[in-house]
Amino acid sequence: VITKARGVAAAAAFTLLAAGLSVAENYEAAGRKWWAHVQFLAGDNLQGRAPGSSGFDLAADYVAGQFQRAGLRPGGIENYFQPVKLTQITLDESNSSIQLVQSGKTTDVKLGDDAILGVNPSSSPTIDAPLVFVGYGLSIPEANWNDLTSPALKGAIAVYLRGGPSHISGNLRSHYSSTGERWKAMKAAGAIGMIALLNPKDMEMSWQRISASRLTPRMVLADPALQETTGEEFTAAWNPDRSQTLFDGAQHNFAEILADANQGKALPHFALPARLNAKTSFKEEPVLSKNVVGIRWGTDPKLSHEFVVLSAHLDHLGEAPVTKAGDRIYNGAMDNASGIASLIEIAGELRHKKVQTKRSLIFLAVTAEEKGELGSKYYANHPSVEGRYVADINMDMYLPLFPLKYLEVQGLNESTLGDDIRAVCQAARVEVQPDQEPNKNLFIRSDQYSFVKEGVPGLAFKFGYLPGSPQEKVSKDWFSQRYHNVTDDLNQPVDASAAARFDDILTTLTIKVANAPEPPAWKPDSFFRRFVRASAH
Ligand SMILES: [Zn+2]
Repeated sequence: VITKARGVAAAAAFTLLAAGLSVAENYEAAGRKWWAHVQFLAGDNLQGRAPGSSGFDLAADYVAGQFQRAGLRPGGIENYFQPVKLTQITLDESNSSIQLVQSGKTTDVKLGDDAILGVNPSSSPTIDAPLVFVGYGLSIPEANWNDLTSPALKGAIAVYLRGGPSHISGNLRSHYSSTGERWKAMKAAGAIGMIALLNPKDMEMSWQRISASRLTPRMVLADPALQETTGEEFTAAWNPDRSQTLFDGAQHNFAEILADANQGKALPHFALPARLNAKTSFKEEPVLSKNVVGIRWGTDPKLSHEFVVLSAHLDHLGEAPVTKAGDRIYNGAMDNASGIASLIEIAGELRHKKVQTKRSLIFLAVTAEEKGELGSKYYANHPSVEGRYVADINMDMYLPLFPLKYLEVQGLNESTLGDDIRAVCQAARVEVQPDQEPNKNLFIRSDQYSFVKEGVPGLAFKFGYLPGSPQEKVSKDWFSQRYHNVTDDLNQPVDASAAARFDDILTTLTIKVANAPEPPAWKPDSFFRRFVRASAH
């Protein structure tokens, strides 16, 4: 561990003292405790914590033990554990293929180099279908936008460019770009599958890195009612350097489409000349994983059946296939041992300070986030503790890589939780920032979204920075070099004191929300308000 912020922690403590706040907090010592959890969870012997692995189960045991130490009551079905049944789907790439057929000429698509073949429970062993380019492939009724009206998609594979029209707001676009919503619209339009084209401008990872992880098994929830891609017979993503092959002989080429997209122009829609032939071979196996659930009961008889959830995902990517040389373990130190460590520390801090809250708190460590937010989706649909869920405060890879001066908050302007975090940060002299890159869709890309879709307001966080600052470079370099890479391990510079300061802010936020006279509410103009149901859990 490299702790860079000894001086900064001292300065922060001094600032708090100067502000007249009582500072029992010693961020440096608290940071060491936080880091010790990260060290255990991101250690090589936990094998990257893939759902179903013994490494994940060891991690779950550790969290349950820490929850118990922190005085949390078991909130699972089996003690602290809520079993989650998953189905693992593994592509047999050597027995799979894609070909493009145009006027009698067949072109083999090289899997891995040219394209990545996806699998899901509906994948069809053989496909022979026409291809239709559908622009961004989005249907957004609120914005009067529909890419799927013509040409007809019945029986076809829809080819779309990731991204969206620049005039449509981040949240609308994010929601309708999610796998489930996108497929729902495609299926309604008659498509049998889809191909994603990537815009190099928006890629968070190089094609080489995307392709390197293509054989990692997929997972879905075993309950078909909770699966999002029913009826999707074919799915693939194409290397932008090779995407032109799909457009050979067509009325527009791929470069023109990218240029239009990058200038914010409307994209054309047209049938592609080639047909697609594909074989998809895969195997399905049951996997049993679990969420870890701890409760801290509220003390107000009128409010203790209302739950504020603090969540973080415990799983990560496991190990790379044996074909890869060198370090194969995806330790996931920041993603997301860091968030689990904070979950544990916040629970411990509440016990240490003997805090009592009116509402009850649920501490939730979920499985299979990396497989598509599956553990949280399962919990949000089948909570192991009955009650009314009023908020989800989620911690996923919040990136404590430098001192905490700016806190980026996803969902900031959507609900009253945004007002709460503003007030807490103001008192702590941390500046709140809205999502700096709304097109990355971060608000819908972690576990808070499972709760949001059930009508529960949520928040997620990142350490913020000013544009052009050294911290921006540190953060961007982290994404390009360590995100979902084996180097997100214990040998990276982390500011543990700053993580402790973050924990302190989240502890204060949690207490504030749990004690407020009214539960959090969506803002009247929030897009996400639509998910509120009469029958809240
Ligand atoms: Zn991740």
